[in-house]
Amino acid sequence: MPFDNHYHNLVSEKPQSHTRLIRDYEGANSDFDFIIVGSGIGGGILADDLADNLGDSKRILVLDAGSFIYPTHVYNISRYSNGAVARHFGVVNIERDQNDPVHFIGEEPQMNLGGRSVFWSGLIPTPQKWERDFFPPEVQADFENDYLTEAGDKMNASISLGEFADSMVKLFRDSDLSEDFVIEETPRAVHQPYLQADGQPKGEYYTEPTGVFNTAELLVNQAGLTPGSGFDGNGLFIKLNAFVEAINETPEGWQEVVVTDTLSKSQRSYYAPKAVIAAGSTESPKLINRSSVYHKFPDNVRRHVGFGLTDHPVSSEAQIFVKKAQLEKNGTIVQSIPIERDDHAKIVFYSKGKLDQNGHIQFPFNIEMNINHEYWHLRHNDPSSGIPDLSDEDRDKVRVDIKFSFANLLDNYNGILSWYNDGYKPHVRFKRWYQYHLLNERFPKIAGWQKDKISFLNLLRETKNRVFSHFEIEGYGADPFYSNDGWPFGWGTVHHACGTLRMPWKERRGQANFNFSDSVVDTNLKVKNTAGLYVCDMSVMPISTAANPVRALGGLALRLSRHLRQ
Ligand SMILES: Cc1cc2nc3c(=O)[nH]c(=O)nc-3n(C[C@H](O)[C@H](O)[C@H](O)COP(=O)(O)OP(=O)(O)OC[C@H]3O[C@@H](n4cnc5c(N)ncnc54)[C@H](O)[C@@H]3O)c2cc1C
Repeated sequence: MPFDNHYHNLVSEKPQSHTRLIRDYEGANSDFDFIIVGSGIGGGILADDLADNLGDSKRILVLDAGSFIYPTHVYNISRYSNGAVARHFGVVNIERDQNDPVHFIGEEPQMNLGGRSVFWSGLIPTPQKWERDFFPPEVQADFENDYLTEAGDKMNASISLGEFADSMVKLFRDSDLSEDFVIEETPRAVHQPYLQADGQPKGEYYTEPTGVFNTAELLVNQAGLTPGSGFDGNGLFIKLNAFVEAINETPEGWQEVVVTDTLSKSQRSYYAPKAVIAAGSTESPKLINRSSVYHKFPDNVRRHVGFGLTDHPVSSEAQIFVKKAQLEKNGTIVQSIPIERDDHAKIVFYSKGKLDQNGHIQFPFNIEMNINHEYWHLRHNDPSSGIPDLSDEDRDKVRVDIKFSFANLLDNYNGILSWYNDGYKPHVRFKRWYQYHLLNERFPKIAGWQKDKISFLNLLRETKNRVFSHFEIEGYGADPFYSNDGWPFGWGTVHHACGTLRMPWKERRGQANFNFSDSVVDTNLKVKNTAGLYVCDMSVMPISTAANPVRALGGLALRLSRHLRQ
């Protein structure tokens, strides 16, 4: 039975604004050089880069099941928090039991032009060496030479929020924290290509970097500018409301991409020697299950399809109210920075992955710090928008908050319980971050150590105190690490979840070799047992890094683009 929109909350429509801004592909020619399923970060960056390099000589088709709901990131047009807008558009694409507190995922993915990039927060920290070690060696080498930097360039990575933020970074770099952490302003993927990375205007215009990079805008611009705009010519073409049912290999080794139009319900196939699945970490394994390759996989590969769904444990925030930052050396204050209500900074303390005397990673997490948090998206520059996340009492105070974001290796227990013809909305098995699981399975796999709850909370408490000791504190806000009673982790979400169509991976720290034989894709992201089917989204990740995952995915997309062009 073809897809009939049973996904609650999926917007399925074709407004005039869509057809006037980007022409939906309606050509008679069904043959392309490359077909990409999904227009999110993975599919969008890949398609854009292919079109930049081959747009005048090749036909590239992007198919997305969603509609044209926003032509750009929500922050470029709205003052509501991106998380709230994202929830509003979350598509129910899996069955889960809300009464089951162990397996419930907090939030669903968005399906539309640009995928989740239209809603994301735009933070693009860089995975560090100790995390990159969990990528297969060829990928590690390419990340280092220099796909992670290029991914930042593609996404207009910012490097500064200005002089105050620079001075805070300097203070922390001069402190003892720099022995264990690399300290930087958190890089953000920004909208305005007309600003330099340090926030200075490139030309005559000055505009605050309020916006966020997204692939809806990237593709809208690329489709308009690519030469050869006739349907029969070359260039980038986009077709929305195009749900891909299956990808089947023809006897000649081409990929037949079977599409149901979600509005008319008619079906049509498109063909290419190379097709790329970029449907996101929950949809891509379902699509593989419906495709011809699923039956060709040997058991050792098939059993990993959909499994390994791994999220990104980030602790709750600890908050203080402060007057100044200061650095003391040998009993003397050597640096002091007064902090005003409208100063702001967003700083990442990347763990260096240093080992303790047992050879275990001391800090398998990054620290994320905000000073006056509400400013960091710069959306509250407009006073009429208010500062929604502060009470009246705290509104005039300078607030500093920190949280800990952990790396985790793939969790084999979690997965999409999908099978051929599963009615499109399979059940999900998703152990959330409950205490026993994190302390006894996830953290030992990545760090090597195994701590009981009190020792673990002590580690976070001591690290928090090290950071907060550099401020003159005038009051305390939330502190999830204050007592030993609570557990500072909430629900998981699918936002950073990865691993469901894994590349070669390591099960745990200390394992000598990568598992190349059982992975679903190889190091070039090619699906095993196919002539030309690839995957380019969060599902290929072999680790959920402490750094938010989009920079690594951007790097993989650029790397795949090069591979497909060779
Ligand atoms: C509120 C929020 C904040 C976030 N903040 C950050 C952050 O600061 N930093 C960071 O690194 N990450 C962040 N993330 C996570 C990040 O945005 C996602 O992990 C990433 O964008 C996923 O990209 P993707 O290409 O894997 O998939 P997606 O963005 O999910 O794209 C998949 C696309 O495929 C389409 N599709 C699915 N199935 C089919 C089908 N059968 N046929 C055709 N098309 C299909 C979908 O409609 C969708 O457009 C955030 C996410 C959210 C929601």
